[in-house]
Amino acid sequence: MKNKDYKTVLKTHALRITDCRVDVLNVFHHSKKARSFKNLEDQLGHYDRVTLYRTLNSFIEKGILHRIPDDSGYARYALCHNDCTPQKHQHDHAHFKCDDCGAIECLEEQHVPNIRLAGYLVKEANLILSGTCKACT
Ligand SMILES: [Zn+2]
Ligand SMILES: [Zn+2]
Ligand SMILES: [Zn+2]
Repeated sequence: MKNKDYKTVLKTHALRITDCRVDVLNVFHHSKKARSFKNLEDQLGHYDRVTLYRTLNSFIEKGILHRIPDDSGYARYALCHNDCTPQKHQHDHAHFKCDDCGAIECLEEQHVPNIRLAGYLVKEANLILSGTCKACT
């Protein structure tokens, strides 16, 4: 994707175009892997933390990125591949975590089973598979 296309993404999600937003989009489009805030900071260290945090949060709010819970305690973020909207992030896909390189990927094709629990209100279901990724096998 080119800078022009990132600007279109921002426009369609009703976000103002800023250099930081374009750069963050660029980082996420560069590879399929999920990134932590630290990854982002390492690559875009010329922006201050607050700006990066706000950018991430606006992307999550608008349906550009989704958060992936991680047992390491650091949340990761990945691009939304479906047409997410602020009202509805459609995320029933599983994720894969590599024990060797630590990478987390979205498994778009693998859906989290829809488990119904009588008497409970399920808000979120996450499925993280772990093992060795393609690059590490
Ligand atoms: Zn989403
Ligand atoms: Zn790996
Ligand atoms: Zn995902």
